[in-house]
Amino acid sequence: MSKTIGICLTLLYVLSFTHNVELRHIKGAPKSDPEPQCGYKSCHPTKPNMLNVHLIAHTHDDVGWLKTVDQYYYGSETQIQKAGVQYIIDSVVESLLRDPEKRFIYVESAFFFKWWKEQTEELQDKVKMLVNEGRLEFIGGAWSMNDEATTHYQSVIDQFAWGLRLLNDTFGECGRPKIGWQIDPFGHSREMASMFAQMGFDGMFFGRLDYQDKDERLMTQNAEMIWHGSENLGEKADLFSGALYNNYQAPDGFCFDILCSDQPIIDGKHSPDNNVKEKIDAFFEFVTKMAEGYRTNNVLITMGEDFHYQNADMWYKNLDKLIKYANERQANGSKINLLYSTPSCYLKSLHDAGISWPTKSDDFFPYASDPHAYWTGYFTSRPTLKRFERDGNHFLQVCKQLSALAPQQSAEFDPHLNFMRETMGIMQHHDAVTGTEKEKVALDYAKRLSVAFRACSTNIRSVLNQLSKGSSQETSTNYPLELKTCSLLNITSCSTSESSSRFALTLYNPLAHRTNEYVRIPVLDYNYVVTDSSGKSLPTQVVPIPAPVLSIKQRNSSAIYELVFLASNLPAVGFKTYFIEKSDDTAHKKPKSLPKKSTSYTVIGDKNFNLTFDTNGFLSQASADGMTRMISQEFLYYEGEIGNNKEFLNRSSGAYIFRPKEGKLHFATDHVSIDAYKGSLVHEVHQKFNDWISQVVRIYNGRNYAEFEWLVGPIPIEDGNGKEIITRFNSDIKSEGIFYTDSNGREMIKRQRDHRDTWNLKLHESVSGNYYPVTTKIALEDSTARMAILTDRAQGGSSMQDGALELMVHRRLLHDDAFGVGEALNETEYGIGLIARGKNHLFIGASLMREDISLKAMERLVQLETLLPSWKFFSNMKEYTQQQWLSEFTNSYTGISSTLPKSAHLLTLEPWHDNELLVRFEHILEKDEDSNYSKYVQFNVKDVLGGFNIVDMRETTLDGNAWLDEHRRFEFVPDPEDESYNAYGVFKKQSNRVHLLDAAKPLLGVKYSNEALETGELGAESNRIRRSANNRHFTMHRERTTQDERKSANKAYVPANDRAKYLIELSPMEIRTFVIYLE
Ligand SMILES: [Zn+2]
Repeated sequence: MSKTIGICLTLLYVLSFTHNVELRHIKGAPKSDPEPQCGYKSCHPTKPNMLNVHLIAHTHDDVGWLKTVDQYYYGSETQIQKAGVQYIIDSVVESLLRDPEKRFIYVESAFFFKWWKEQTEELQDKVKMLVNEGRLEFIGGAWSMNDEATTHYQSVIDQFAWGLRLLNDTFGECGRPKIGWQIDPFGHSREMASMFAQMGFDGMFFGRLDYQDKDERLMTQNAEMIWHGSENLGEKADLFSGALYNNYQAPDGFCFDILCSDQPIIDGKHSPDNNVKEKIDAFFEFVTKMAEGYRTNNVLITMGEDFHYQNADMWYKNLDKLIKYANERQANGSKINLLYSTPSCYLKSLHDAGISWPTKSDDFFPYASDPHAYWTGYFTSRPTLKRFERDGNHFLQVCKQLSALAPQQSAEFDPHLNFMRETMGIMQHHDAVTGTEKEKVALDYAKRLSVAFRACSTNIRSVLNQLSKGSSQETSTNYPLELKTCSLLNITSCSTSESSSRFALTLYNPLAHRTNEYVRIPVLDYNYVVTDSSGKSLPTQVVPIPAPVLSIKQRNSSAIYELVFLASNLPAVGFKTYFIEKSDDTAHKKPKSLPKKSTSYTVIGDKNFNLTFDTNGFLSQASADGMTRMISQEFLYYEGEIGNNKEFLNRSSGAYIFRPKEGKLHFATDHVSIDAYKGSLVHEVHQKFNDWISQVVRIYNGRNYAEFEWLVGPIPIEDGNGKEIITRFNSDIKSEGIFYTDSNGREMIKRQRDHRDTWNLKLHESVSGNYYPVTTKIALEDSTARMAILTDRAQGGSSMQDGALELMVHRRLLHDDAFGVGEALNETEYGIGLIARGKNHLFIGASLMREDISLKAMERLVQLETLLPSWKFFSNMKEYTQQQWLSEFTNSYTGISSTLPKSAHLLTLEPWHDNELLVRFEHILEKDEDSNYSKYVQFNVKDVLGGFNIVDMRETTLDGNAWLDEHRRFEFVPDPEDESYNAYGVFKKQSNRVHLLDAAKPLLGVKYSNEALETGELGAESNRIRRSANNRHFTMHRERTTQDERKSANKAYVPANDRAKYLIELSPMEIRTFVIYLE
């Protein structure tokens, strides 16, 4: 909502359960107002004593699924799917221009801006008019409609920031979406609700929730609710959320698209086919039944589907008739009123209804569409694409930071960075990172991402060369440092380190802390000397590359060892370069495995933390925090169910759903061959389970956790069975059915086996119905001990027995599950089943008391270091001796002037508009995770970013595109007794809502208004440090101010203490976003 909305603030809104007073009108502006009339101001009026049927004309345009992004945009490959997005937008715009009554919403910025760039200025102006008048409204607005189970919050925020920014730059205030529109993702995360709220969205609608949950909610009028998105952030993470009645489809018989076969409305007076009466009767029957499930006299009907409106007139012509003939009946007493509407206008009607709403505190996972279809397979589907996506996020952050730190920028910097931003936006789509696309489309995503890596690499190479050489004179053809990324390090292969006897390794650390990191480099031999930036040679260790890795057929590498060293004190947001040289020195010894004894146990680690392996080669116990616990780890598999999908009972396991045959587990082996290697830096056990499963378990010196690097594949299918492979950790921890999984990498959510918080679950799939998405962490504990596992990509996970945690690492299936993709998830590479490799980190120790840092806090810190470790850049150094290298290059650099407190994270540092940075600071702990690290932290931004010439800073909503202090959100009031609605295990069916106000009421939200802040009574949460009055110089909500304007504005007001304005505080899990203006 913009400031132009007539604000009539007579009384402060005080949260009460009885009555609330009028605060602001949204229809205050006179008709002649030249201001844009978009959003809530452009809604068609509803009728107070009728059932108002909001018809939402919409199209659902997947950013890749059965066809690639470009195939969908251009409409090629029609034999796969008749879908062309360019025609959709063309056609809709034409229809909208003809009739001001019509409305349309558009969601995916990836497609919209591709179309926009191809239009003439004339047409662009017309589209701007449509947007300004609220006739074309952007909803969602991110680059894609992201998945919610397998995405990481950092990437979700990024893709919203970018989509909303282009909308803002192009359309201003009227382009800003108010509503989240997650109509197709397969279940919904609590963190997503929290992010929507923090981005300033007024509400969110979604399509898919468990069929039992949905029935229950419709029966009890709880399908629309206030979702508490965070246990740490309070009200500012609350989001009004509504489950749609019919997913996102039109009612049966009312699909008027060129892709549908329903009858049009035939209204020829004397036509023998005239069907007006029966159509309207059927429609009324549908909406009347639907209205029983919802609380107000408004219902939202989605009129559209996948790639609909390629011929928009077909839809609109029939909708016109539907509205006309339905509303004609009002003359005869009908109480049903149809109107063209949008989700925001519908939400406004709900808000204006002035009633209270139920609340929700857990999430909508797992999603089941029928008793035998739990959509929990996609949590793991395409594990290598999921890992590549996470690499993409890592590289994007490095690219953003270095582009921001560049002494000199060339003209391609922005396009390169934008390409990477946009590619990562595409990757978040609910058929991309999910692995639910066709194989060819998955390959297209991977290809795009590798092109994006190349584009961003050129920025990075330029910046690192400038910073290393201390001069910006070098041209791109003449960089002294190659700074290559070895993209095959995941199979321990790297051309530079393998082909050069002298090379430099530049480690770029994107964290705002100094880090110590163990580095591993594939090499041909065991005699290398590593010199750090001060010329000191470092201790090294060489370990052999495990035989199963060496025998990967397509691994085109001669490396047989890994060189290990500790890179210590890596500069924050900076780099350190190491010089690595092969030596003739005979002091180096060839690594040897410990002698094998069939009678004794193998122990790795030190006295603080160690793991024991039994004589069969399996992990058998762990010692940590002074206690020894029984703990084992093994690989097992489920066989995928095979069925004809004709009825629920005959569902196959597939790309979307996980359906194990009889829920039965099979052991991969009963004996593991092991080799152990111990040196001063790392202890390793190399395990071989069978011909297609192996693993390295390692503990680095001084580390109180272990790394499990698994290698799985090709999964055998010769027996005709697809297989879904899990790694399982068993312990003697008495977890009593309770375990915890993260939500998009942030807050943890409590799970209970065979149970849901808000309804009485009837479980027909005992295993897959207990699977949850694990983006980064799964954990369990009792009063004494705790076990947690970090993942390096999204995986499905569960605790099927007390004390046990399982993660699905890979799956290969031979049948389709009949949800549209039309292919079995049978990934192959080089003609054989796909091989996947990945890492899990195991933490085990005391659940409560620890001397310095709690296990939970340690997990958080390691989670950050594994998400964003230093990026390795390799340069051949054959032209330089070590001495020349030392004297000619700057080998250590930091881009910030002060590191952040350990629990604070520099979530974002990127160039934004000219002379602007977009910066996010985040507190990475939850409130009770540690007595020390969970505390508030405070620091001064000018201290941290001292290297930048900062002239001003202003806080924005999470997406970075609206000023926080000017942003208003609708406020909704919870049902009184629902305060305890979701208390664990408590389910209250009965809703006892309160009518707060009569019809035609006002908007309640004043939470972030300046008035509220002045009194100190309300809304201070998002603004803990009182904003400097200086901020008021920024007038319009959405307009960019020029530097000159800012300067003259600054003259008018000289703050008493400039530094104070840059002092910020973070509470647990808080993210604060700022635009920083540079000289
Ligand atoms: Zn979709």
